Amino acid sequence: MINAERSFWESELYDGEFDLIVIGAGLTGQSIAHFYKGSHPEEKVLVVDRGFFPIGASTRNAGFACFGSVTEHMADMKIEEEPKIIDRIRRRFNGLKLLRNTLGDKNIEYREPGAYEIFTDQKVYKEALAHLDTCNRWLNEAAGVNDVYGATEHNGFPAISIKHEGCLHPGKMMRTLYEKNLKLGVEFRWQSPVSEIRQNEGSILLENGIELKGRQLAVATNSFTSKLLGDIKIKPGRGFVLVTKPIPDFKWKGTYHYDAGYYYFRGVGNDQLLLGGARSLDIDVETTTEFGTNEKIKNHLLSFANDVLKLPQGWEVEIEWSGIMGFTPTKSPILKRISDKAIVVAGLSGMGVALGMQLGKEASELLRVES
Ligand SMILES: Cc1cc2nc3c(=O)[nH]c(=O)nc-3n(C[C@H](O)[C@H](O)[C@H](O)COP(=O)(O)OP(=O)(O)OC[C@H]3O[C@@H](n4cnc5c(N)ncnc54)[C@H](O)[C@@H]3O)c2cc1C
Repeated sequence: MINAERSFWESELYDGEFDLIVIGAGLTGQSIAHFYKGSHPEEKVLVVDRGFFPIGASTRNAGFACFGSVTEHMADMKIEEEPKIIDRIRRRFNGLKLLRNTLGDKNIEYREPGAYEIFTDQKVYKEALAHLDTCNRWLNEAAGVNDVYGATEHNGFPAISIKHEGCLHPGKMMRTLYEKNLKLGVEFRWQSPVSEIRQNEGSILLENGIELKGRQLAVATNSFTSKLLGDIKIKPGRGFVLVTKPIPDFKWKGTYHYDAGYYYFRGVGNDQLLLGGARSLDIDVETTTEFGTNEKIKNHLLSFANDVLKLPQGWEVEIEWSGIMGFTPTKSPILKRISDKAIVVAGLSGMGVALGMQLGKEASELLRVES
């Protein structure tokens, strides 16, 4: 920390009150800022983040623009009632529409190359097929689309095709949103970790000792929220992803799900495979906010690529990374007011590409109504 007193000019610039301070510059936080500033152009909106760029999940995810596979919906049926599941599908579907309309398909490299859930176990496949009608009805109720899921075969596997699922480039998604926010006049402070949220005063304390005051605060730190707000119970979940070097005769060009969404893979560029997931293999160790590689999970994914996907011999990993998700017990995110001056949005439960902007918009409306 640089130890310097404030100048007269700096005081005028930095000590004044902001109308809204958003903590967290991921997709959710930047969406709150975007929609709030869009409808209050005269107000001062600030986004603070601890990272040099957003460093959580928004630039580290797999870029699936999805609303759930059949086995994912089946797993949800065990923990939630049907109306809640339908509502979440509706939010994911609408959230993706909003994201695409706001940012533009070309800017975020949105495409629909064909989506499938694949199966290696006939019994599980049969069970999933028995749920096709229910899932198709849910999609119809949630989004007015028909015959979304259909029995098929893909690359020699029993499969369920998924209409309307797509993928995008998460880095370009975040860059486009950032550029739009700069144009609107949203201010940013990067590399500014927040150490304390003073929710009743509407102020935040940065680790460097600076206090920033806001008329309203929006906390959008997802998996890291419980560190700042102990009462908000969000369970972190680390996710691991790798991308291969180009693979000759590459045949996995679409977007794919396996085992209730715990495994996911997709084509990147013309001939590279992105593969991730398998958190369920070591769930306790992966319940962490620390980035890093779990060798057990990585080795398992490498075997999956060899033994199940049968990538040709000699394929190599080009790059691997981790990102941190935030989970609620039911998978339904939290959006709520925690004081007269503060709201929190968290727990996007691994669905934030679809839900982040929609929730951000809803949060901005909550701030607007109550500000
Ligand atoms: C490996 C992986 C794959 C995924 N794949 C998909 C997918 O294919 N499709 C999909 O829909 N979703 C996917 N997700 C989930 C999705 O990426 C997230 O749900 C979404 O990005 C959450 O956005 P967010 O803005 O709420 O949180 P984040 O992007 O995590 O943003 C939170 C921000 O808060 C900041 N922050 C935290 N603590 C502090 C502090 N003390 N002070 C200041 N700033 C702070 C962080 O630096 C971060 O920038 C995936 C996630 C992971 C990890």
